[in-house]
Amino acid sequence: MAELQRCAHALLRQGVLCDPGRLWRALCVAWCAWCLAPLALALGCEGERHIHLTRPVEVSAQDLAEFRAMTPLRVLSVDAPPMARYDGDRDIYAGVGIDVWCFIAGRLGLRYEVVPGRDLTVAQKILQVQEGQADVFMPLSLQSERAQRGLFTQPFYESYYAVIARKGWRQPVRGLADLAQYRVGVVRGVSLEPLLKEVVPAHQLVSFDQKGSEGLFLALRDGSIDLAVFNKSIFAEKRYEHEYFDLEDILTLYGSPRGYRFYFSPSPQHERVVAAFDRYLAAMDIAESVAAHEYGERQFLERYVAQRGQRIFLQVASVAAVVVALVLYLALRRYRKLVRLLEGSNRQIRQQQQALQAANQELERQSHTDGLTGLANRRELDQALRREHARQQRTGAPLSLLMVDVDHFKCVNDHYGHAMGDDYLRAIARVLRTTVARPTDLVARYGGEEFVCLLPDTAAADAFTVAERIRQAVADLALPNVLAAVPHLTLSIGIATTAGTDAKAQQLLAQADAQLYAAKHAGRDRVHAVVL
Ligand code: GH3
Ligand code: MG
Ligand code: MG
Repeated sequence: MAELQRCAHALLRQGVLCDPGRLWRALCVAWCAWCLAPLALALGCEGERHIHLTRPVEVSAQDLAEFRAMTPLRVLSVDAPPMARYDGDRDIYAGVGIDVWCFIAGRLGLRYEVVPGRDLTVAQKILQVQEGQADVFMPLSLQSERAQRGLFTQPFYESYYAVIARKGWRQPVRGLADLAQYRVGVVRGVSLEPLLKEVVPAHQLVSFDQKGSEGLFLALRDGSIDLAVFNKSIFAEKRYEHEYFDLEDILTLYGSPRGYRFYFSPSPQHERVVAAFDRYLAAMDIAESVAAHEYGERQFLERYVAQRGQRIFLQVASVAAVVVALVLYLALRRYRKLVRLLEGSNRQIRQQQQALQAANQELERQSHTDGLTGLANRRELDQALRREHARQQRTGAPLSLLMVDVDHFKCVNDHYGHAMGDDYLRAIARVLRTTVARPTDLVARYGGEEFVCLLPDTAAADAFTVAERIRQAVADLALPNVLAAVPHLTLSIGIATTAGTDAKAQQLLAQADAQLYAAKHAGRDRVHAVVL
């Protein structure tokens, strides 16, 4: 924010804000500078926060002026936590060494830029500094050969080497001398290498290029070396960073402490810079920075545990999700199957209900119908007679009842057989059905070869006409009856009509029967009628 304010004031002072063209160019430049800033300053500088001076440090004005005028120092770093740790997520280096560097460089007014060299080995980086392609390397421990080809500051962080083995390694290693019997791995170019070369036979000493030092640890894992020698504190960090939990340090080489320093390419200017650095290093308290950055092991352990927790949670959650999905799928399948079964049984029930209804209707129909002729049966007649008689009693409208009997029907059976007799009865039924056609009329088979026609609202004269029409129609059929007196089928009909309120229903039947009897006696093939 302060930077932005400064920038805005500068723009105002120069009148840039009044000129749209200049303003546009200035904004472009500012935007580019803002975009490129993280590339140029890929250091996590926390020096001002973590580092204090125990006493004032004197730097001459001449030195300060010269340092400010220097071209930016090209800085190379190695991934060696807690001194300098590369944070891939933020693409920055951070650590004790970075804090110290930023603090002193800031005080001296030195400008610097980080040289991208992550694909270079430590030895290559050191060589770049020694040959002047880069200006500074950090952190590095003192070696006489290095001191001859570059400039070391005073140390700012002390650490030790350790012997690393696979967990469960049972051979006793009490000191450097014991390494002589084993295949030992070491990172090429580290300061302890010359010492190791003195102890371990050349064919047992395996050197690895250091970029991420992975090669060394992987060799230890796969058994191609027995032991590795590596910086104790860097290993402690990397162990958690890369989850080398199957490896541990079994011996700390306290006899060979290493002080880590800044390493400058040799030049008279750098000599003055190194001298100024040393003055600061002698007056600095970096305990807070060390505490802030030496938490690697704890930090990685926490992160590892958290990530493992997340992994386990995700695994459990995904297994649970699969199980739930499976259960849901099975439940859905079962539900669909049950629905299908239910639909099937519902359909069956509906069909059975329809069949039952049809059977009931048929039974109902049969209970009112005569099987041979299809006319109403005696039961239906009785109901209709009661109903129509009651209506007649209420309304006083005339009600006529015709009792129809086939003449000499016995002769038909006797001569033509019973089946032919049945055919004759069905033929008579057809005549009755067509002749007695009013919807309120009822034709019933009364029994044997006798039929009854119930004619509501029909006076005696009309009933007589209907009866005559019936008799004539059957006679016209000319069904042979050779044994009878007349050689074709005839009918006798008795009619009873009531128009008053005195006659009972059964009387109507009895009177019609009496008239039928009279007609028979009078010679058959005729109609007799009475009004009650
Ligand atoms: P009448 O002129 O005096 O009425 O003489 P009939 O022969 O018609 O009278 P009868 O009462 O002696 O005979 C009726 C006959 O009708 C007797 C019986 O076998 C016959 N019959 C009754 N019901 C049926 C039937 O359902 N089918 C057949 N084929 N014959 C029947
Ligand atoms: Mg009869
Ligand atoms: Mg008869």
